Amino acid sequence: MSTARAIRHQRHDAAQRPFIVIWESTRACPLACRHCRAEAVPERDPRELDTSAARELLRQVAAFGRPAPLFVITGGDPFQRPDLTDLIAHGRSIGVRVAVSPSGTPTLTEERLREVHAAGAAGISLSLDGSTPALHDDFRGVPGVYDLTLDAWDTARALGMKVQINTTVARHNLRDLPDIVRLVADHGAMLWSAFFLVPTGRGRSLGPLTAGEVEDVLNFVYDMGRTVPAKTTEAHHFRRVALQRQILARTGEDPVAALGLGSLYRELSERAEELGPAGGERRVRRPPLDVNAGRGFVFVSHTGSVHPSGFLPMDAGNVRRTPLTEIYRTSELFTGLRDPGRLGGRCGRCEFGRVCGGSRSRAYGTTGDPYAEEPWCGYVPGSFPHQRELAALLPGAGAEDDVDAADGVDVADTASGKEQRVEHP
Ligand code: SF4
Repeated sequence: MSTARAIRHQRHDAAQRPFIVIWESTRACPLACRHCRAEAVPERDPRELDTSAARELLRQVAAFGRPAPLFVITGGDPFQRPDLTDLIAHGRSIGVRVAVSPSGTPTLTEERLREVHAAGAAGISLSLDGSTPALHDDFRGVPGVYDLTLDAWDTARALGMKVQINTTVARHNLRDLPDIVRLVADHGAMLWSAFFLVPTGRGRSLGPLTAGEVEDVLNFVYDMGRTVPAKTTEAHHFRRVALQRQILARTGEDPVAALGLGSLYRELSERAEELGPAGGERRVRRPPLDVNAGRGFVFVSHTGSVHPSGFLPMDAGNVRRTPLTEIYRTSELFTGLRDPGRLGGRCGRCEFGRVCGGSRSRAYGTTGDPYAEEPWCGYVPGSFPHQRELAALLPGAGAEDDVDAADGVDVADTASGKEQRVEHP
């Protein structure tokens, strides 16, 4: 069996250097999204990192070494910060690539996008939680956001910017996912990310999905990888699904029967078929990237506190007092999260544990223990029948492509906090 492109790993030691740093530049945002991690507010917080502190943070990111991690400015709405373009340009001048995750508000004008582009932004991410204005605007809490988002999307593409589209997968849009994918294919995007809710912030009020529904959606996202470049956020078991599907494709087994997929998977697949093949269908899937909270990923809050993800509100220090490099490399929280031996429950016994590990944010949000098993995964360790084939694809068997932050712009590769906000993590 070919072992190429099963999973992508970070080229550099994840214990020394993150792949991506997300900075919550402000919590100010005019929207009131139902899943907001940041519980965004209309006004900026006086405790935010000011311009000088933000420049210092960029220097700390550069100190990880070249190529520096991708630096994503999220919020709230980063367009609420007047120093946004100055910070993007500063990052660029010291070798840090910067991407921006704006909210779909009236600030998202062509003029602002031009400025951000001219300052050297590597790309932007936008949220799209429904294929119609009714679905999206209801979720975002403000009418008109859908139109603003689509206009900004087209404008950014016309300017030549890389665009990532983030979709929060929740009960309101489960059956709308094929239509969202079609929009992504039609308007064009560098990446589509399906974000699976974490019960934190306003997201606590949204009902959870069942493990079976999540399994169906993950397999659907895998299928859509042939249509659009697709990834998941806070659904690390997508990597398990990608490995299983690659093996089943080789053995010729039907994934519905082999993986026990349910009616939601069938419904989503039928709708995608009904919509017909999207133009420009890809033949090569984008393999999922092996990052997790604290392992390739770090989140810095608006006040400078450092967290393993935007959805894991455990604090490992503050960049005002301790360099980010030191916190990331040596704090007990980050080193613990990088140790697969600390995983509990099924994740601790799982043969996929090293490439998956489950959402530490969801484990914490559900149980209060960041090492507990992933509550939205129903996999029974050891139950996948092709263990020998699997062993050939797991880390150490040469099955991985190595990448670094210079190889792509994953604007919110794990919990940026934005996708779930209104936009999320
Ligand atoms: S049990 Fe845990 S480690 Fe195994 S696939 Fe599920 S989430 Fe991943």
